Amino acid sequence: MNDHPFNDYPFDGRQFDAHRPGGTAVVVGAGLAGLTAATGLAAHGFEVTVLEARDRVGGRTHGIEAAPGVLVDAGAAYLGDRHTELLAMMDELGLKTTPTTMSGASRFALGSGNDNHNGSSADATTRDGRFPPLDGVALGDLFDRLSELTAAVRPEAPWLTPDAERLDALTAAEWAEQHLTHPDARLFFPLFLGEMTAADPADISVLHLAFYLRSGGGLRYLNAFAGGAQQDRISGGAHQVCERLAERLGRRVRLGEPVRAVHQDADADAVTVHTDRGEHRADVAVMALPPLLADAIDYRPGLPVRRAGERTARGCAVKVHLVYPAPLWRDHGLSGWSVNARGPLLSTVDDSPAESGIGVLTGFVTGAEAHRFAALTPRQQRAAAVGQAAQLFPMLPEPTACHVTDWLNDPYSQGCYAALLGPGDWPRLGPALTARHHRVHWAGTETSTAYFGLMEGAIRSGHRVVADILAHT
Ligand code: FAD
Repeated sequence: MNDHPFNDYPFDGRQFDAHRPGGTAVVVGAGLAGLTAATGLAAHGFEVTVLEARDRVGGRTHGIEAAPGVLVDAGAAYLGDRHTELLAMMDELGLKTTPTTMSGASRFALGSGNDNHNGSSADATTRDGRFPPLDGVALGDLFDRLSELTAAVRPEAPWLTPDAERLDALTAAEWAEQHLTHPDARLFFPLFLGEMTAADPADISVLHLAFYLRSGGGLRYLNAFAGGAQQDRISGGAHQVCERLAERLGRRVRLGEPVRAVHQDADADAVTVHTDRGEHRADVAVMALPPLLADAIDYRPGLPVRRAGERTARGCAVKVHLVYPAPLWRDHGLSGWSVNARGPLLSTVDDSPAESGIGVLTGFVTGAEAHRFAALTPRQQRAAAVGQAAQLFPMLPEPTACHVTDWLNDPYSQGCYAALLGPGDWPRLGPALTARHHRVHWAGTETSTAYFGLMEGAIRSGHRVVADILAHT
């Protein structure tokens, strides 16, 4: 094994109280799933090495500096009461929550229904609460239909859902075409889908959509702020969970070491994980990566079922942070929430860090819009985002800063919030999701049928893989 102390995580780490002697384990990926697994294995006496491609831990959680010394969530941000494993871990690590602020009126530029405009942000209207100025019956019908699909899906094995074959063959775009007749429902569906899953409706199967909503606690819970999955943020940023786990693991975590190959001996009495800097031999390997990235690795013997299919797509989200001297929209009775038919910012939310005094509006660029926006130059992106914010919130001064985080083209995420399973994916990939390949085990939020795609799912997958390994060693 090569020794590159410069790239090791810069803490000594701690001695874990081993519950019983373990073996050796290599964990690939230092996101929430990998670090949860590594911590659990170390606690069970395993000698653990975590190999991380990036020069930071955290994966899809990432803090960026909105103002000097003030970090905001460029990746995952929100959680709710049902995210019990995340909350327990935060408690253990000494992290606290901040409520997401959502009081005051919203801005809508939907170009349909009651606002009677063409969708330009210059025509935005103000309305109390979060319900958009669209036909209530049409939206009620949309949510009823989605709730029916969600209730029927089998969350622990979506491919066994009654009518799975038909639901799997249909994309969300085709479903909308067939079932949504009212223009307001057609207008709102992709916006809702983008907000929930960052998906272009053409990219995901209806089976996956129904599963995702069910796995995350249902339509109402996933979509809600107070009492729902967006209720809180982690004070100081979600990235701190991984940073604190990595501090404890210390030099077990090796940064800047992308894994290229995972080979197992003919008699499979060990697994060797290859990076550009050397090889790591262990009793078990845990692959804690999104499926598209897990598939880019060379496995010998080859995997019986690849981790992604031809229709598995990247989630499409770009996050934009607009920084103001203070949350000035609140002085105008506004919550900072907006929903917009035209991009780039399809929605905005108040993500001001409670402890700093600055105002931060986060803009979400999702679905097909994310592809268009990601193709612009940084200057064009800033001009488009700041220009739209000026139309949506004409009472605000120009932001003091605009930060763009493109997850779509990030080589070590390849999209977010999570991989999007398209037609054909669940029936083929589902049964193999957590099945070990000799000494190779799988983790990552995309392997969790509870809270798939969320931080909670990632942590649960880390706990599950530790239990699997203990059961097989
Ligand atoms: P990852 O975090 O992706 O970790 C995988 C790790 O593997 C990464 O560190 C990566 O660099 C590394 N890696 C990749 N390839 C290799 C290789 N070849 N060798 C070594 N290492 C490799 N979740 C919520 O709960 N609430 C939210 O509000 C929310 N919003 C989100 C918004 C955005 C913009 C994003 C990006 C995500 C959001 N999520 C949200 C999803 C959440 O971030 C993820 O579900 C979770 O962080 C996934 O953790 P993971 O460990 O499974 O994967």
